[in-house]
Amino acid sequence: MKFVFFGAPGAGKGTMAAKAATAFKLPHISTGEIFRTAMRAGTPLGLKVKTIVESGGLVSDELTVELVYERLSQADAKDGWLLDGFPRTLGQAKALEAFSPEDYVIDLEVRDEKVIERLSGRRMCKSCSRIYHTKFMPPKNPDTCDDCNGAIYTRDDDREESVRVRLEHYRNQTAPLEAYYEGRGTLVRVDGEGDAESVWTVLYGVMRDLMDGKKVH
Ligand code: ADP
Ligand code: ADP
Ligand code: ZN
Repeated sequence: MKFVFFGAPGAGKGTMAAKAATAFKLPHISTGEIFRTAMRAGTPLGLKVKTIVESGGLVSDELTVELVYERLSQADAKDGWLLDGFPRTLGQAKALEAFSPEDYVIDLEVRDEKVIERLSGRRMCKSCSRIYHTKFMPPKNPDTCDDCNGAIYTRDDDREESVRVRLEHYRNQTAPLEAYYEGRGTLVRVDGEGDAESVWTVLYGVMRDLMDGKKVH
């Protein structure tokens, strides 16, 4: 089954998609993560997108869509996937529809104040990309990852200036996709406001029902 995880920056898409990928054995495909890996390795792609990503801008549809097509063509994605952070524009949504249409869009609903609180405390492992939060999901040791001992860092685009830009792009370009997917009949709203454990319990049940062919919306 093919799921898109949708929601504001900081809504919890990456955190929940990682859990769902393990629980349902589906590949977790995050465009943000593809860009960060390329930036860290200093590949031509990484160099090309670095300034845009760090300032909170959106990478062009042309480049992003090509990357996603390539990733979705790999063997592990042939029976389904979890897309996290894509699509972010109407152009991307239409491109996905033409290539491999989604079954469901999980819309993680979280109010602006919460999103900002989550982004301002977000930390990430440099090695395995596990997501932490200084207050809500702290690592046992503030500097190292519980899983791999990698270094914990703050994303450049989680600084206040870039966060503002990202939320603006979200409002103008991405949020309108909610109505678009509602029109396609694939949108499933999930309350993302609770703590990670309770959001996951609800989300797990919703995804399970969708896979069993039960109607949840
Ligand atoms: P967040 O977790 O805050 O939603 P992501 O990790 O998904 O952020 O993305 C980080 C950055 O990578 C974005 O701010 C943007 O610069 C770039 N990016 C990721 N996905 C896309 C996309 N689908 N289209 C354009 N740019 C993207
Ligand atoms: P997104 O991928 O949508 O940008 P993340 O999964 O990276 O969001 O989560 C943003 C921040 O909020 C991270 O620091 C994460 O640890 C934290 N977080 C995620 N889900 C919750 C939750 N339900 N309650 C509190 N904090 C959360
Ligand atoms: Zn790690």
